[in-house]
Amino acid sequence: MKREEPWYKEGLRFGCTQCGQCCTGSPGYVWIDEKEIAEMAKFLKISEEEFVKRYTRRIDSRLSLLEHPKTYDCVFLKEKKCGLYGSRPKQCRTFPWWPENLASKQAWAETAERCEGINHKDAPLITLGEIERQRKMTDD
Ligand code: SF4
Ligand code: SF4
Repeated sequence: MKREEPWYKEGLRFGCTQCGQCCTGSPGYVWIDEKEIAEMAKFLKISEEEFVKRYTRRIDSRLSLLEHPKTYDCVFLKEKKCGLYGSRPKQCRTFPWWPENLASKQAWAETAERCEGINHKDAPLITLGEIERQRKMTDD
């Protein structure tokens, strides 16, 4: 059966301004797995054990990066920039292309309220193919 075309079939405008807003502002979780812990620890030149001890919190069986208890800044957010940019977790790299953000026009509009890169005047048009590639990366 042919898959119905998504509502964003003509593409979506997005260009990250690196404003840092998606790394702060409200309580949340940045879930990380073992592979990501290894990559981040390597980037920071510390052991994985040290990384887990210093930068993560356990929620049930999963680990999330720490955040500031009052500002909710991610522990790696420094002067609006990610301190681990090249090694940041998949959850960060794939924002805003998360399935829940793409679920409907309404969900995308709500995401745009938190992310100035969506529909920014200088944002390029991201094609359907690229959106789908990014969205699929969230399940890998
Ligand atoms: S790891 Fe980097 S990109 Fe991800 S939330 Fe923290 S500061 Fe933001
Ligand atoms: S909120 Fe949007 S524009 Fe700002 S850093 Fe995050 S992805 Fe980029």
